[in-house]
Amino acid sequence: MIDLIIIGAGPAGIAAAVYAKRYNLNLMIMEKTFSPGGKVLYPHWIENYIGFPDGLSGASLAEIFSAHLKKLEITIENTSCASLRKNEHGFTVMNQKNQSFESKFVILAQGTDERMLGIPGEEKFKGLGVSYCATCDAPFFKGKTIATIGGGDSALSETLYLSEFAKNLHLIHRRDSLRGAEMLGEKVMNTKNIIPHFGFTATEISGDGFVNQIEIQNITTKEKVLIPVDGVFIFAGYEPHTSFIKESIALDEKGFIVTNDSMETNIPGLLAAGDIRSKTLRQIITAVSDGATAAHSVRELSKG
Ligand code: NAP
Repeated sequence: MIDLIIIGAGPAGIAAAVYAKRYNLNLMIMEKTFSPGGKVLYPHWIENYIGFPDGLSGASLAEIFSAHLKKLEITIENTSCASLRKNEHGFTVMNQKNQSFESKFVILAQGTDERMLGIPGEEKFKGLGVSYCATCDAPFFKGKTIATIGGGDSALSETLYLSEFAKNLHLIHRRDSLRGAEMLGEKVMNTKNIIPHFGFTATEISGDGFVNQIEIQNITTKEKVLIPVDGVFIFAGYEPHTSFIKESIALDEKGFIVTNDSMETNIPGLLAAGDIRSKTLRQIITAVSDGATAAHSVRELSKG
C-alpha cells in the first residue's frame, strides 16, 4: 500500500505531487490523457499566472510543470480511474483495465469536462466544424467566418485568439454583459472583426457534411436569426465528473466537491483540489494552491 494516489495531473495534481514528494510521501499520479497539464494545455496564451509577466502559451506552462515532475523523478501512470472505494486501511482505486491500486490517502484533482450546449447539430458536427479548443483548431479557420459561444474568460480569451485567424467572428452570449475579466472584454469589444450578439442563445448548428450555419435566438423577443458560418467554437464552461467515486461524498448544488480549508472532503482520508472543488475562483493559481494545501494536509494526517 502506498501513501497517496493523486487522480489527475492538471495544476492541482502536479502541485500536490511536488509537495508530497518533498514530504517524502510515497505517491502515484493517475492521469487519463497522455500529457500532464490538464486544461493548462489548451489556452493559447496565459497572462495572469504569477512569475510570467510577458505571458506564455498553455502548452509551454504545461511543459514547465512536467519538467518539475521529472526533476523530482515523479512518474505518471497513464490510466483512467474507473472507481474509488474506501476500505479498511484507506482506498482502493480501480482503473479501466480492472487493475486495482491501494493507498492510505487520495487527492481528487481530476478537474472538469467541457459543458456541451446540447443543441441539435452540436454532436453531429463535432470535429466537422464544431470545436471546444481554439489552440487545437484555429488554423483550420484562417480567412473563414466562425461563431464562438459564451461570455466567460475562456470565451473571451479564445475569441480574441481566433479573431487573428478568422475573417469575421460572431460572439454569441446569452446575457447583455460579459462575465469574463474586464480587460479581456474591452479587447473583445475593440476588435474590429468580432461581431457581438448579446442576449442570444444558439439553438441549432447545421451544415452539409461540415458546418455552414448557426441559428441563434433572441432571449427576449424570441426572434430567430440564421448566420452562415464555417465553424462554431463552444466555451460554455465546465462540469464536474465524480460518478466514479463510489462513496457518498458531499457535493454542492452544482455537483462540485465540498471541502474544508485543508482540502479534506467529508470522507476521512479523501481530499480534493483544483477545479473539481466547490469554490469561487477557478484559476491555475488557485488550483496550484489547493494542490499544495492538500499534500500538506496528507502529511499532517499521516502523522496521526
Ligand atoms: P464560465 O466562467 O463558467 O463561463 C461559461 C460561459 O458560457 C458563461 O458566459 C455562460 O453564460 C455560458 N454558458 C454556459 N452554459 C451555456 C448554455 N447552455 N448556452 C449558452 N451559454 C452558456 O467558464 P469558462 O469561461 O470556461 O471559465 C471557467 C473557469 O476558468 C472560470 O473560473 C474562469 O475564470 C477560469 N478561466 C480563467 C482564465 C484566465 O484567467 N485567463 C481563462 C479561462 C478560464 P452565463 O454568463 O449566462 O452563465
